[in-house]
Amino acid sequence: ETYTAAENRYEKMKYRRCGKSGILLPLLSLGLWHNFGDTADFSIARKILRKAFDGGITHFDLANNYGPPYGSAERNFGKIFKEDFKDYRDELLISTKAGWDMWPGPYGNFGSRKYLIASLDQSLQRMGLDYVDIFYHHRPDPDTPLEETMGALDQIVRQGKALYVGISQYSAEETAKAAGILKDLKTPFLIHQPRYNMLDRWVEDGLLDTLEKEGLGSIAFSPLEQGILTGKYLNGIPSNSRAAIEGGYLDRNKITPHLVEKVKALDEVAKSRNQTLAQMAIAWLLKDKRITTVLIGVSSDSQLQENIDSLENLEFSKKQLNQIETILKN
Ligand code: NDP
Repeated sequence: ETYTAAENRYEKMKYRRCGKSGILLPLLSLGLWHNFGDTADFSIARKILRKAFDGGITHFDLANNYGPPYGSAERNFGKIFKEDFKDYRDELLISTKAGWDMWPGPYGNFGSRKYLIASLDQSLQRMGLDYVDIFYHHRPDPDTPLEETMGALDQIVRQGKALYVGISQYSAEETAKAAGILKDLKTPFLIHQPRYNMLDRWVEDGLLDTLEKEGLGSIAFSPLEQGILTGKYLNGIPSNSRAAIEGGYLDRNKITPHLVEKVKALDEVAKSRNQTLAQMAIAWLLKDKRITTVLIGVSSDSQLQENIDSLENLEFSKKQLNQIETILKN
């Protein structure tokens, strides 16, 4: 059936300014890394996207290689976009990326101008879009001069194929260098996409300071450590969970008894806040205003609803923060 967006879609969601830019991002953004490829259920994928937009989630994040197979998340998103969201293009911020292995041979990986420009053209075709709002270099490339990679991002904007550019997984030092180059080129550099969650806090060690200094926003990926920061692994590995996927991105061996103990203790703190652990883990990231938005991934619309409901309690007492620190240090 045809989709009409909920009329009250902007009533509940809150928006934060992305660094020193004109862009506001919803506190939650939706990522299509998992659950949108050809092995996923298309009707669930569509339900998730509709529900997200109805809840004020205006930002969808993709990459050339999201699937499986590579490219299929963009293709499926394109189908759903065409049917459901075409009339809402100007209410949406859509991003994609290149930087990981995408096609065979020396020109389908890393950070050359050759790769980035060809990859974005392919992404636009798959999604059926004229432009993306943000185009990212997906990870630093140690062998390509940063001037070349940043020059490619600049060219992409000049071509009208992206409105803003971003980088992902760059260290604080690399980020400062990239910002310098892009400033000289006058490229609209908007955002950094780092991994950040209670169990992976590297960004606190310099990156967030650099972003603030450079006037950049941030979008935190894997906020639930791929699902570990929820109640789902407290009693083993459910068969329909990400850790159950053979050869997937979440290695079940990562879920050690020691880690489960930690997660259990965090779960108790969450309960004392009348939240689920997933909700507390999201709220915990948003307590730092330098985190513009938390980039969630969900395999069902009920997970999405649970995560959206985290916004009902974003405040932490000193005592709760201390309890969390103690647990994380153990
Ligand atoms: P999360 O850490 O939020 O993990 C998402 C997974 O956790 C879901 O697929 C689901 O897994 C489980 N989950 C989510 N909510 C709940 C809930 N309420 N209750 C129980 N389980 C839940 O994020 P992702 O690792 O998926 O990353 C999010 C996005 O970040 C990606 O889609 C992508 O856009 C981006 N990203 C960017 C990267 C980069 O290099 N720039 C790298 C990785 C991600 P299950 O299948 O078990 O139900």
